[in-house]
Amino acid sequence: MASLAMHLAIAEEYMKRNAVQDRNLFLDGSLAPDLGSDQIASHFGSYEKPKTIIEFLKTRMNLAKYLEEVQISNDFDSGYFLHMIADDLFYQYLYTEEVESKTPEQIRKEVYSDYDFVTQHILSFYKIETDRIKKWSNNKKGKPVYFTPQGCDAFIAAVSKVDLQKAEREIRADLSSFRENFFKSNKIKTRRQIFHSSRPKISS
Ligand SMILES: [Zn+2]
Repeated sequence: MASLAMHLAIAEEYMKRNAVQDRNLFLDGSLAPDLGSDQIASHFGSYEKPKTIIEFLKTRMNLAKYLEEVQISNDFDSGYFLHMIADDLFYQYLYTEEVESKTPEQIRKEVYSDYDFVTQHILSFYKIETDRIKKWSNNKKGKPVYFTPQGCDAFIAAVSKVDLQKAEREIRADLSSFRENFFKSNKIKTRRQIFHSSRPKISS
């Protein structure tokens, strides 16, 4: 869900705060889910086709299932786990009911185009070596639909501060409250919150 540049920035920022023994392995793990040919499988998602777009997007990945099936035992796994957390939270951050009027193809196009708008900012701001992602990154100038460079920075900073062991315990216990606490403690408003607070209240 998040872009490769964002995943790299999150991994690099994480490694500034945490002792990671094998940095290359950690970086490999933190990109791995997006580099395979079957991204639904690599994100532990399901192939079912639900009725609504929101449901459709929700089935693309499954953070809880990942933890059910994987024992995190090395730096590659830790990087992979951080990627899964970032994708899950990014999904929560990004989508509101307004996407229901769009097709999956349209959303994909818009989100990928947004990635292109913020990639250059991320690569230079976080001083990222582009070798690993050069092939997949395009730089484009324009107005993003879903997120801004500033929004990305806030998100990257917050995710890279996640304590992976604590997160593992919290996600296993209750994924919804893990998400809720993340946004609350980092003072990040999701687009859904902004969407709802800007709509007139309908009294019953
Ligand atoms: Zn991913």
